[in-house]
Amino acid sequence: MKIGILGAGISGLSIGKLLSSQHEVEILERHMEPGGIAKTKNFDGIPYHTVGGHCFNSKHLDVLAFVFSKILPEEKWDLIQRKSSIQFKNREISYPIEFAVREIHAFNPELAYKIIEDYLIAQQDLSNVHNLEDWFVSSFGKTLAEEYFIPYNRKIWNIEPKEMSHEWVKEKLPIPDRKAFMQSLFNELKDNMSHRLFYYPKNNQTNTFIKALADGLKILFGYNVFSIRYSNRNKKWIINDTQHYDLIINTLPLNIVPSLIENCPLEIVDEAQKLRYNRITTMLWESAQTSNTWTYIPEPESIFHRYIHISNFAGSQKSYTITEAVGERSYDEMANCGRKDPFLKTPLDHNVSDHAYVVFDKNYNTSKDTILKYLKQIGIYTLGRFGEWDYYNMDICIKKSLELYKLLQDEH
Ligand SMILES: Cc1cc2nc3c(=O)[nH]c(=O)nc-3n(C[C@H](O)[C@H](O)[C@H](O)COP(=O)(O)OP(=O)(O)OC[C@H]3O[C@@H](n4cnc5c(N)ncnc54)[C@H](O)[C@@H]3O)c2cc1C
Repeated sequence: MKIGILGAGISGLSIGKLLSSQHEVEILERHMEPGGIAKTKNFDGIPYHTVGGHCFNSKHLDVLAFVFSKILPEEKWDLIQRKSSIQFKNREISYPIEFAVREIHAFNPELAYKIIEDYLIAQQDLSNVHNLEDWFVSSFGKTLAEEYFIPYNRKIWNIEPKEMSHEWVKEKLPIPDRKAFMQSLFNELKDNMSHRLFYYPKNNQTNTFIKALADGLKILFGYNVFSIRYSNRNKKWIINDTQHYDLIINTLPLNIVPSLIENCPLEIVDEAQKLRYNRITTMLWESAQTSNTWTYIPEPESIFHRYIHISNFAGSQKSYTITEAVGERSYDEMANCGRKDPFLKTPLDHNVSDHAYVVFDKNYNTSKDTILKYLKQIGIYTLGRFGEWDYYNMDICIKKSLELYKLLQDEH
């Protein structure tokens, strides 16, 4: 079979790699390099993650086995301890905040007592939860929700948490059990979450992993997909009237794809237009030193929501930090915000992304499901963070590629 894959991000490359041993595979990518939002730009030997810091790990053994046995051997990765902090009330406290109440007590005992009181009476009963704001209050108590989770999420999603669905969050943010919460009040409790360790390529460039994924694949770079149609006569999918395939796999964003398909019903195109997403803007800085890998910033006064201390996972002599803000921000806006923080010394580079985050507003499930159903009905397979319109990290993109590979083996 000749298979066309639209997009050479992590999803397109992974499924391409899996299928290429049995099929003729061609990947169409509008940019001149592979990697999509995970790729980095080399800045004087520093991997500038133009769309946020990308580190790798997975709880899925099949994903780790695929990556380490087929793409980049485990010995070519460093295993790094995640060390995150939160800038909270002008202090630096440990991440996650629910285990940092002892630290809050040291500078604001009243607030710490209120957090504990509210946490302990929080129901953690999700039956009456209707939106993301309710979910935070119900899971962490009113004070932690109001002081941290709601302002931070308002900032990163650029939408009121009460206007957002909570369906997606359970998988992303584990609710701590009460015993662990109470232990943390007596003893320092370290970040024990599943992603506390992560892999980063030993040569300090995520692009090494991306290049290894892309190795041996036929990718047409600079190829912008603008039309998709099926020829009943030839039984082929035809892209831009130039490429012909027996089967196509889409990884392009669901809000765009319907408008590229010939004779796509208007109601599907309408649903696609309802899907919301956020761009992010990043700035690379020469910075002061820190032992942290990430710092989270819930305070509304700063447009940044996160600092990525890139030199701590990509070894370098000098210290570099990437600051991240939601939406399209100018160079000056980013530089001026950073200049208020003496930790950030010199702005070096700036980038505005395309799609970065799916916005889980209350409509997203309906629109997404309608489009996915339509694509399935016409025989287009779709995959990836924006191809499935979900909060997927790289490992889930790979997991979904493994699943699609199996499905295609069964079907064809
Ligand atoms: C800020 C941020 C931080 C993140 N950090 C991490 C992390 O630390 N660890 C982790 O595992 N994951 C992380 N992720 C998630 C990770 O980036 C994604 O899961 C993954 O990169 C998505 O890959 P994809 O192939 O599905 O999509 P994409 O990377 O979006 O790939 C789609 C490809 O399609 C191409 N394309 C689009 N339109 C067209 C067109 N018309 N014609 C041709 N080509 C087209 C694009 O150029 C792109 O190459 C992060 C994401 C963000 C936004």
